[in-house]
Amino acid sequence: QALLYIVATPIGNLADMVPRAIEVLQCADLVAAEDTRHSQRLFSHFDIDTPLMAYHDHSDDRRTGQILQKLEQGQTVALISDAGTPLISDPGYRLVREARGRGIRVVPIPGACAFVAALSAAGLPSDRFSFEGFLPAKSGAREKALQGLASDDRTLVFYEAPHRVADTLDAMAAVFGGDREAVIAREISKAFETVHLAPLEELAAWVRADRNQQRGEIVLLVRGADRRPSAELDGEAQRVMKLLMAELP
Ligand code: SAM
Repeated sequence: QALLYIVATPIGNLADMVPRAIEVLQCADLVAAEDTRHSQRLFSHFDIDTPLMAYHDHSDDRRTGQILQKLEQGQTVALISDAGTPLISDPGYRLVREARGRGIRVVPIPGACAFVAALSAAGLPSDRFSFEGFLPAKSGAREKALQGLASDDRTLVFYEAPHRVADTLDAMAAVFGGDREAVIAREISKAFETVHLAPLEELAAWVRADRNQQRGEIVLLVRGADRRPSAELDGEAQRVMKLLMAELP
């Protein structure tokens, strides 16, 4: 039976590679990878010599077609990205969609994912959250996107490029308010791993004051808008409740 494996790979520390991922990559007939040169390093480390083929979401239909054809011939294909879980701000959606449409079994091999790791260590509410991926690069579009999230009461999670992080934190402080709590989670599982929580205005100043905080790979998390109804609203709700209760038989 044709099988398409979606395989998570480490986000920094190679020791985070799960044994099942190594086994699947060793046994597959073909591995579709975002950047074959990058993945070659992972392959050498784990003694994997399965043929690699480049695959991006903007790969032409011919490339997607070639992979689907191999699957339809009964071959086992594994998809990986440069780091972490494929399809999470990474290529793969088109391939998974097309494969499932053709009745091909798609099997995930769970492993590292930067935003899940960041959320697990941030100290912000994690019962409900919204993963927003990368914000638009241009400041106007970024501010508009932030405004659309200002009253969301879930923890907001973003990926951000190091050269934009200071400007993004300033923009967040301006739109969400400087006293809203936020976290920068940087270089997770690597030598300079940092997880720092502070109100947005302080966090922006802290990052601006230290160029090292503007390097490497970064997840930003922002506490959602206050969930507690204001005391005023509480009073009003109580008054309405009393009126309604009085009407009940
Ligand atoms: N698919 C990946 C995943 O599962 O997390 C994400 C790929 S996305 C193209 C790359 C972004 O993920 C980086 O710009 C950064 O925001 C975040 N990221 C990846 N590795 C990270 C790490 N070790 N520490 C913090 N953030 C990381």
